[in-house]
Amino acid sequence: MRAQRVHLTTEQDRLTDDVRELRRELESRTRELERSQARFRDVIERNADAIVVVDEKGVVRLVNDAATKLFGASREQLLGSPFGFPLVADETTELDLVRNGEARVAEMRVVESEWEGETACIASLRDITERKRAEQDARELIREYAARAAAEEAARRLRFLLESSTVLASSLDHRETLSALARLCVSEIADWAVVYSVDEAGVPGRLEVAHREVGKEELLRELQQTPIDPNGPHPVLEVVRARKPILAEAVTDAFLESVTRDARHRKIVSELGVASFMMVPIIARDRVLGAISLVSSRSSRQFDEHDLALAEDIAARAALAIANARLYEEARRANKTKSDFLAVVSHDLRTPLTAIIGYVDLMEMGVPNQLPDATRERLRRIRTSATHLLYLLNELLIFARLDSGREELRRSDVDLRDVARDAAAVGEPLALERGLRFHLDLPEHPVILRTDPNKVRQVLLNLIGNAVKYTRQGEIRVELREPAERLATFRVRDTGVGIAEQHVQQIFEPFWQVDPNQRARDGGTGLGLSVVRRLVQLLGGEVCVESELGRGSTFTVTLPSR
Ligand code: ADP
Repeated sequence: MRAQRVHLTTEQDRLTDDVRELRRELESRTRELERSQARFRDVIERNADAIVVVDEKGVVRLVNDAATKLFGASREQLLGSPFGFPLVADETTELDLVRNGEARVAEMRVVESEWEGETACIASLRDITERKRAEQDARELIREYAARAAAEEAARRLRFLLESSTVLASSLDHRETLSALARLCVSEIADWAVVYSVDEAGVPGRLEVAHREVGKEELLRELQQTPIDPNGPHPVLEVVRARKPILAEAVTDAFLESVTRDARHRKIVSELGVASFMMVPIIARDRVLGAISLVSSRSSRQFDEHDLALAEDIAARAALAIANARLYEEARRANKTKSDFLAVVSHDLRTPLTAIIGYVDLMEMGVPNQLPDATRERLRRIRTSATHLLYLLNELLIFARLDSGREELRRSDVDLRDVARDAAAVGEPLALERGLRFHLDLPEHPVILRTDPNKVRQVLLNLIGNAVKYTRQGEIRVELREPAERLATFRVRDTGVGIAEQHVQQIFEPFWQVDPNQRARDGGTGLGLSVVRRLVQLLGGEVCVESELGRGSTFTVTLPSR
């Protein structure tokens, strides 16, 4: 019995020891757990991201400092309140928050875990408002860049079109226009360009070529001289026939093969470089005048629909310029024919007329017999009419010669006072005949100028003739001045009908008269002042007029020494 008690006591002690041991163990583990939880809380607390622990019921159980900042609320406000955002484990979502009235965006990542023995979600949130803003700014910047680049490109194209209009309008020679066009395209859109023109039979030929690289001229010339076989393969034939453009954004060997006539042609084109190609027809007034082909020799520069539209725009402008140039050439040819005709007719009529006047003069002088007074009076009328006719023919002749550019200068050193005296000798009797006073106002010293005296005399005769014709009473005054060395001015003043302001410019136009009935009445041609202006221009000078209706006119001619 005793032995058994002893045994029991020992057993009890051992159990007590075990319990003690277990309690120690438990206490140690609890401390460990508390330490670990404290560490965990500490880690959570120090985390830069906002951490929110939400239990199964959706209630916030833990928040860290960053979370209070993110939500703009105190720990007390957050803990125990519903979280309010859907929580999907292992997914990243973006939340739109309002903090102190300001919109913010947070990125949230959720993991499922345990919290104090219960299932919970741990959400980690990061404020990405600034990143989002930066991304948005970057997107806007890119859009802005793209818009600016597009605007700059549009402006460049517009500048190019404006420049092309100026270049195309700068010449009325159609060959020159096309050459300028080729150079312009090469400077702006293509590496090389060919301008084709279609002849009367509708067959196209290469007219102008241009390359960006100077060293390619030899090849270009060879290309220019290679004839286009009207039955062979060549894109220009198709463009001219179909009146439609061609665009080959990326030129392939097969394409090259299909548009070249033989191996040599292919070699030239390849050596000039052909990576991208377009060709547009030049059409004016429904007629195909030619085509332009534009080539890029760099694979980095491929033509697109925008380039094609630009090329079509240029071709339309070129078409107008060429049509204008052709019209001008035709008009010039027609004008020359007219001037030649006028010159021949007036010259040929002048010869017999001079003979008529000569014979009338002799008969008036009584050669071979004295004539009765009545007959002499009739002869005088014949002479007046014949002289007037001669004056008109002379005016026509000189106008025709000036108009066709055949009038030449015969210069010499002259004292312009002599020229003025000669013109006055003709003009003064006419003025006196009409009851007008006539003054010739000359400097005392010689006014020497190197010029064509006959042309200066003609100018003065026309101006004095008009002054007499358009003045009913008063006076005609002819003045010569030398305002500077090697410069002279003539003034022809009258006290006549004057010229209305709106007519002042027109009076220098050929065949233009203030009063259209005047031609029938006075027999004027409307050519006198246009002859004056052209002669003065030929002499390198200027003519201008000041006039007041009803009070008179002053024509001023300024002449340089040449
Ligand atoms: P024309 O005298 O043969 O009609 P012009 O070319 O010499 O032709 O002149 C053109 C027009 O200018 C005249 O018809 C006339 O109306 C006007 N004109 C020219 N000179 C004068 C002038 N001195 N005074 C008023 N009008 C003038």
